[in-house]
This record gives sequence, structure tokens and C-alpha cells, in this order.
Amino acid sequence: MEVDLAELKLSEKLLKMYEEFLLYVERESVEFKRDQSKKLEEQLNKKILWLKSYITHLENCGEKLKEGSDYWAQHEKHELIIKYFENEYIENKKDILYLWCITCSDIVSSQAKNSFEIKKFNKYKTHLEHKIKAIRKNKKTIYLTCNDCSEKNNENTIIFCSEVSEWFDSI
Ligand SMILES: [Zn+2]
Ligand SMILES: [Zn+2]
Repeated sequence: MEVDLAELKLSEKLLKMYEEFLLYVERESVEFKRDQSKKLEEQLNKKILWLKSYITHLENCGEKLKEGSDYWAQHEKHELIIKYFENEYIENKKDILYLWCITCSDIVSSQAKNSFEIKKFNKYKTHLEHKIKAIRKNKKTIYLTCNDCSEKNNENTIIFCSEVSEWFDSI
């Protein structure tokens, strides 16, 4: 296998962005509450470390993250929510749904409304604004479950279930 150059470039860009953001938080921590900035620094450091190993993995011809499952696995047990992205620059806002991580203040994944994946999109839409959790059942399988619907229906509501890449835990 060859090095996935596009993914590598993207990851390096992301790494640079996080590093710059961390510098900013460290420098301007007066703007944040003390404990808030400490928490943010911790989160950013974790992300930077993870991205560095991911970049090494890519440089060694490793596969790129699997859409969906591998991204969910990065936010295991975090507080997630499904929502439309509130950005005035985006046209047709209602045509794209995001899985948003409240814990990290970051996008986990997105689902566009297109003819190939309309079922998937609609499934996300049924859980709009609901609290979601990503739960690993074992090394291989990850579930997206809806807390709100689980409580309401008094049974575990699984939205999606997918397989995590085999190499995921080794980086
Ligand atoms: Zn998260
Ligand atoms: Zn729900």
C-alpha cells in the first residue's frame, strides 16, 4: 500500500491548527476561566498526541480512518448531540446534519442529505437534538445509542452499529 498523501496532508494541517490553538489558549488563558483553560489545554494536548501517532501511522502506509465508526470511537463515552450546523455562511443548512461532541466542542461526523444516503440521513434526523453516546461493545464493534429515546422507550435505542478499524487501538 502507498502513503495516503491527501489524508496525510489534511492531518498535518489539523495538527498545526490544534498546536496554534493550544499556544493561543496558553498565552491568552486570562480570557478563559482558570479551570476551563486547563481542561481545554488537556483536551488539545490529547488531540495533538493522537494526531502525531496517526500521522506516523499514515507515513508507514497505514489506512486512513474509517468514516463513521473510527470517528465515533475517538469520542467514546463523550456527550454527543445531533444537530444542524449553525453557520450563516452555509446554504441549505437543513441538508446536512452533524454529530457534535459537547465534551470536545468538535464535529465528530456529518451526514449530508443525498440520494444515496437518504435513509441514513433520515435516521439521524429522527434523533435531532437528542443526546447520543458512542459505546464500544468490544474491540471491534461500536454503537451509537440515543439516550433520550432509550429513556423514553425504556429500552436501549441503537441508531447505528459499525466496525472499528483493526489498527485503531494501536495508535
Ligand atoms: Zn469528544
Ligand atoms: Zn433519539
